[in-house]
Amino acid sequence: MDLNGNMLQRASATMTSAEAGACWVELQSAEHIVVTAHRSPDGDAVGSVLGLVNHLKSKGIRATPIFPDRFPSNLNWMPGTDEVHIHDESAVEVEGLLQRAEIIVCLDFNGPSRTGGMEQALRDSPAKKWVIDHHQNPEQFPDRLFSDPACGSTCELIFDLILGWGQVAEITQDTAACIYTGIMTDTGSFRFPSVTVHTHEVLGWLLATGMNHALVHEQTFDQQSIDQVQLHGFAMSERLKVWPDAGLAMISLAHGDLERFHYQPGDTEGLVNRALGLAGVRAAIFAKESKDGVIKLSFRSVGDINVRDIAAAHFDGGGHVNAAGGIYSTGTLEALQEFVEAQREAWFGTK
Ligand code: 5GP
Ligand code: MN
Repeated sequence: MDLNGNMLQRASATMTSAEAGACWVELQSAEHIVVTAHRSPDGDAVGSVLGLVNHLKSKGIRATPIFPDRFPSNLNWMPGTDEVHIHDESAVEVEGLLQRAEIIVCLDFNGPSRTGGMEQALRDSPAKKWVIDHHQNPEQFPDRLFSDPACGSTCELIFDLILGWGQVAEITQDTAACIYTGIMTDTGSFRFPSVTVHTHEVLGWLLATGMNHALVHEQTFDQQSIDQVQLHGFAMSERLKVWPDAGLAMISLAHGDLERFHYQPGDTEGLVNRALGLAGVRAAIFAKESKDGVIKLSFRSVGDINVRDIAAAHFDGGGHVNAAGGIYSTGTLEALQEFVEAQREAWFGTK
């Protein structure tokens, strides 16, 4: 709030109120609206999709939530998950929805390739495509682009869109819980440098709906299986390598390791941050081998260490300066570790 009690707007206005108004008019007159996000959906992806769908529903506008693949079960509690359509599980149906749509709202990703196996169907759809996102360097594929890489989460941008529509006072508890979740997960529970006064104002408005924020934390973070907790213990004790000279830590899990602990999607969530939490560590890498031998990488860093550029240059990936991801498909976990070891000084310097 400013001293007159007005809500602070985002410093870099993502969209003008005229643009927001034009969007509202288009949404009101569309028969078939699809809202979607990137593959391996996280809290911000699911929260922004369901937050927007729930809000539109409360205003009498029907929109269909679809995802390229299934999200982790710790997000199953979110209001609206029973209405989602998953491309991996029913491709023909989902491709029909994309083809029939007049508007496809793309949330939390900056290019069609981030939707994995759904990419071609998304590209081929004659629908108007809108992107609302906070990743760097958005591709110029959408008809409308609302991009703010300085913003900590897409969910905060969804709130700003509702603010632009003048409907903040009408946000329901269900919508608020979804938006809150994405802000919470993409800011490391409100601790990353991307958190601003405006972020906390948004959170204040969400709590003012009467939503149960303590329950959101509990349902999202405190429902872990024994397998998941033991996988984390195993990873930290048996699969962690630290290079103190470069302030670097790396956790590598082979497919066999995952099978041993009956891996479910989402079970390795948070591991890379545990490695980053070590004293003296300023960059962390998590490598996870899939059944087909492809290795999925997660990068985290602090300060001005830019892991997005490393992910983009060497691992066909991208993301944010301090949180990025990519793929290593040219060798084994051992070869990857040797590559990282050899590059560590060039990438992260010496301490
Ligand atoms: P995570 O490590 O949580 O999977 O991803 C961290 C960040 O990197 C997220 O913002 C995510 O969007 C981005 N990211 C993860 N994997 C990839 C990828 O393969 N390509 C690109 N461009 N970004 C990725
Ligand atoms: Mn996000």
